[in-house]
Amino acid sequence: MQPTHIEHIGIAVTSLDEAIPFFETLLGTKCYAIEEVTDQKVRTAFVRCGQTKIELLEPTCPESTIASFIEKNNGRGGMHHIAFAVEGIEDHLAEAKAAGIRLIDEKPRSGAEGLSIAFLHPKSTFGVLTELCENRNKQ
Ligand code: ZN
Repeated sequence: MQPTHIEHIGIAVTSLDEAIPFFETLLGTKCYAIEEVTDQKVRTAFVRCGQTKIELLEPTCPESTIASFIEKNNGRGGMHHIAFAVEGIEDHLAEAKAAGIRLIDEKPRSGAEGLSIAFLHPKSTFGVLTELCENRNKQ
């Protein structure tokens, strides 16, 4: 496996409206996209920092995994996952599996921004939920 860069860092928040202005100030740039990912029951907002993005995740309902994550973190949320950009996500998943890493997603699914994404299990990744993602819409 050889990711090209850190694609984004996911941070769970209770309210995008409250979190966005802070990250815009911190990173000195405007949030450039807000998107609902119904599959994951979240609304996401993106703010860039170089070629890496901060992905803010707000649950859209109590059954969202982000809602339970926030609940476990004193109702406040926090850093949720790290995402590595890869080329050839299926090969990376096969390689991870062969290396004995537990996969949450055996096959890539579609995430925000039209990326193909797959998660590795935190039990195999030193407690850090880890996402692999591939941009197949590259111009
Ligand atoms: Zn992500």
